[in-house]
Amino acid sequence: MAGKPHALCIPYPAQGHVNPMLKLAKLLHHKGFCITFVNTHFNHRRLIKSHGIQALSALPDFRFASIPDGLPPSEADATQDVPSLCLSIPNTCLEPLCELIREVNSSNSPPVNCLVVDGVMTFALKAAEAFRLPAVALWTSSACGLLTCMLFQRLVDLGITPSKEEDGYLERVMDWVPGVKDGLRLRDFPSFVRTTDPDDIMLNYMLREMEAIKGAKAILLNTFDALEEEVIGALEEMLPPPLYTVGPLNLSLDRLPDSSVKAIGSSLWKEEDECIRWLDDKEPASVLYVNFGSITVATIEQLTEFAWGLADSGSPFLWVIRPDIVFGESAMLPEEFHVATRERSMVSSWIPQERVLRHAAIGGFLTHSGWNSTLESISSGVPVICWPFFADQQTNCRFSCREWGVGVEIDSEVKRGEVEAVVREVMNGEKGKRMKEKAVEWKKKAVAAAATASDVNLDRVINEVM
Ligand code: UDP
Repeated sequence: MAGKPHALCIPYPAQGHVNPMLKLAKLLHHKGFCITFVNTHFNHRRLIKSHGIQALSALPDFRFASIPDGLPPSEADATQDVPSLCLSIPNTCLEPLCELIREVNSSNSPPVNCLVVDGVMTFALKAAEAFRLPAVALWTSSACGLLTCMLFQRLVDLGITPSKEEDGYLERVMDWVPGVKDGLRLRDFPSFVRTTDPDDIMLNYMLREMEAIKGAKAILLNTFDALEEEVIGALEEMLPPPLYTVGPLNLSLDRLPDSSVKAIGSSLWKEEDECIRWLDDKEPASVLYVNFGSITVATIEQLTEFAWGLADSGSPFLWVIRPDIVFGESAMLPEEFHVATRERSMVSSWIPQERVLRHAAIGGFLTHSGWNSTLESISSGVPVICWPFFADQQTNCRFSCREWGVGVEIDSEVKRGEVEAVVREVMNGEKGKRMKEKAVEWKKKAVAAAATASDVNLDRVINEVM
């Protein structure tokens, strides 16, 4: 272990950030790094609960550590409130992180020699500066997500956001967006621009993070060039740090030989894998997979509309309903729905999504358009039905539907008739067939990128920056 480079990896404390950061950490470990992976105490406890302490403490050169997030202690197995975290992290985490670096440097481990900082955890760049260490940022969302967040300041300067909430303001087309031929409607920007409050926590957090990320030595993107070429080109014009596409990280990780590091799980919920056996009995491409990720909350009315839309569509489906998906209430669906669909459905609370998406029985994915879900779906050649909830999901939805040809959107209002019609079209219709073909084309390009350009880019960033 002595003499190895040592990277400290600091993800934003949410599932969709921990997953890609852990993948990158495993790839760096494979390329010779010693790793300290820094979660918040809250997520560290949840990881131990889901995977067991042994899984996280078995290896001397791949360690897990934790720092406080500043929120009141909690034993909950639920997603934390995002604005509360964004208020607390910049004021809480810097000193504990510096203390951790001091501790590591005075232990038997090789001293820390670089930081890999989540693109929305830029407080950690200050720690890098204090210890005179290079820091690279991992942007865990899409390049189109980064581009649109980078344009927030321009929307503020133009007086477009905070909005005046005139009727139809979300339909306004911004025809000046670089790298996007037909421009973008305001509704296609990350949801944080939909505020009337100049002091809005998320808008201001993102404005600050987008300025601060420019201080990183490099920005790593979990995407691949063929998918987002023009957008990446536009970002290169806007950003001082060099950009390196290193995705899809899920496919790069698949290429590594099995090892105890590769096997470390990152799910914050305990995974139920009975669904894999259930899928084994199903016809190829016959099952719709439904999952809205780790943060989306829905009303019980929206879930009920989805339920009857799925029931009426006639397709078999695997539906993951997180225990905390309905805010403050249990997500109980009507008993008649379960009776009506028992023969052709399975409902779980958290599943190994990447394995599910790769299963031959999956024919479509009804998703909230989180970036990891979108990229995992593209990597598996599965078309998507998008129901974006917040953050970059609106942008990923727009690109999935309009630029990449793999998606179709469901109205945020959710009506069972629309759900039924869209599911029928995607699973059995002509449009669905074309989307599937497109998704398979992207999958081929994604696999090729993971084996070539993205791997070369990771070596370059290691050699040139880290
Ligand atoms: N995930 C999973 N099992 C589930 C739901 C989600 O393994 O039942 C994983 C999924 O594979 C993805 C991440 O959790 O890697 C969710 O990230 P995404 O960006 O799609 O959405 P977010 O949860 O951040 O909204």
